[in-house]
Amino acid sequence: MSGPRPVRAARGTELSTRGWQQEAALRMLQNNLDPEVAEHPDKLVVYGGTGKAARDWRSYDAMVRTLQTLKQDETMLVQSGRPVGVMQTHEWAPRVLIANSNLVGDWANWEEFRRLEALGLTMYGQMTAGSWIYIGTQGILQGTYETFSAVAAKKFGGTLAGTITLTAGLGGMGGAQPLAVTMNDGVALCIDCDPRAIDRRIEHRYLDVKADSLDHALQLAVEARDARRPLSIGVVGNAAELVPQLLAMNAPIDIVTDQTSAHDPLAYLPVGIDFDDMADYAAEKPADFTTRARESMARHVEAMVGFQDAGAEVFDYGNSIRGEAQLAGYTRAFDFPGFVPAYIRPLFCEGKGPFRWAALSGDPKDIAATDKAMLDLFPENESLARWIKMAGERVHFQGLPARICWLGYGERDKAGERFNEMVADGTLQAPLAIGRDHLDCGSVASPYRETEAMLDGSDAIADWPLLNAMVNVASGASWVSLHHGGGVGMGRSIHAGQVTVADGTALAGEKIRRVLTNDPGMGVIRHVDAGYDIAESVAEDRGVRVPMREE
Ligand code: NAD
Repeated sequence: MSGPRPVRAARGTELSTRGWQQEAALRMLQNNLDPEVAEHPDKLVVYGGTGKAARDWRSYDAMVRTLQTLKQDETMLVQSGRPVGVMQTHEWAPRVLIANSNLVGDWANWEEFRRLEALGLTMYGQMTAGSWIYIGTQGILQGTYETFSAVAAKKFGGTLAGTITLTAGLGGMGGAQPLAVTMNDGVALCIDCDPRAIDRRIEHRYLDVKADSLDHALQLAVEARDARRPLSIGVVGNAAELVPQLLAMNAPIDIVTDQTSAHDPLAYLPVGIDFDDMADYAAEKPADFTTRARESMARHVEAMVGFQDAGAEVFDYGNSIRGEAQLAGYTRAFDFPGFVPAYIRPLFCEGKGPFRWAALSGDPKDIAATDKAMLDLFPENESLARWIKMAGERVHFQGLPARICWLGYGERDKAGERFNEMVADGTLQAPLAIGRDHLDCGSVASPYRETEAMLDGSDAIADWPLLNAMVNVASGASWVSLHHGGGVGMGRSIHAGQVTVADGTALAGEKIRRVLTNDPGMGVIRHVDAGYDIAESVAEDRGVRVPMREE
């Protein structure tokens, strides 16, 4: 009988499958469910509300079994976390094709999704949960670090020293915020209603201290700010109560954002419900819970707008909290921008995005060797060098050792090919799984996040992630995924991912060169098409062909 149990990926070079491409998929699926990595592994939930790696334990067992016997010319098909077929393909084809949480447009809402989920027909795949390339909180850390650096550059003279950032949500992704703020020398005051989330971030060194009360948290924050000393402080409470309270106290907050799981109203704690009763209440009265959660989000967002009115830098951190507050009738919800148009889009125009890799050997030395290779490959890139050095010193690995860094068009393929050579010549002890978040430059349509306020108004055009998935299949990725709803919730996004395994063979080198060129190339062409000058000059300089510019 299959049921919850601790899962951990194998380490070392002994295979339990017929090749490294299959082995990588198996280890990354299992790594997503490692108790060190997943937020609620017994429920197969990896991060982001209810983002799962497999639909149920029976499906998980069937995927493991199938990957263990899958041949080099076969492909396993996964429909929302359940393996539904094995087809004969060829050695250039992906070993796994994944479609998660997709619904037809008119049916693409939480109510219908939950009805189908209750029937056991679907699961929520989030972005990297159901596509098996979640690497713990580090996965979002560099992006969060870059975002706070951009805030510092825009408004605070290039550093967050002497500033206080207020945020909430210290879960799988949100937990990166305190470390990203202190890496930029600032002070972070972080609210979470789950004391365990705070303890976990302290244990993993993402968060420095836990305050006893809101007053205590504010006192610690002000002292550290005055001493221009980086410090991150966690405080237990409901953000929908504490953020308005801080506003009423005229707390000297400089920056406000939020990463509670607001995209899913059943994962945001409403005011008046105890945290310990949250799961039961959400399961028993989902409609009532949703209404109350949205009302609370409206209070939370209203206070964020209040801080903006008082002069703070305020932005939505990609969790759809503005959309949910608007649904509750709060009319000024969209007064502050999303983080992508505010800080990230210029990077997307260059094909930059969250490139990541995991060492299948399980040995941190392999990551140290790849860190060194990155510094050798891109000696002129100072911010990359600063990041790699800081990450090496401060990032606690969760599960298989891994690294993330944002790389653009013309850089990712270089790094990938170098990594493959390092596997081939024995510098690394075992292959690497090279992938990325679905939150990338050309892989997502999400009008409240990655494609908010596009220059040509094409925010909701979802052809791009579909083309992205197809081009990665055609280019030789090891597994490719196409999801709906991740990050911002049902009906609000379509997005695709790929993972390509560097196993040291010449064939892997050929695949890597194509995938890691074409995948960020999608970001360049998507932004050229929308009329961004930076993307045009990148296409021009680096030879990305755009037929409509060739007249
Ligand atoms: P998670 O579910 O692991 O954590 C959410 C946290 O919010 C939990 O610890 C929970 O206790 C807390 N919380 C819920 N309601 C609260 C309330 N009222 N007051 C205080 N705390 C509350 O989710 P995650 O993986 O950390 O993701 C957080 C959000 O960010 C999601 O909406 C996700 O989709 C989004 N996200 C954003 C990005 C990005 O790049 N900006 C990337 C990934 C995910």
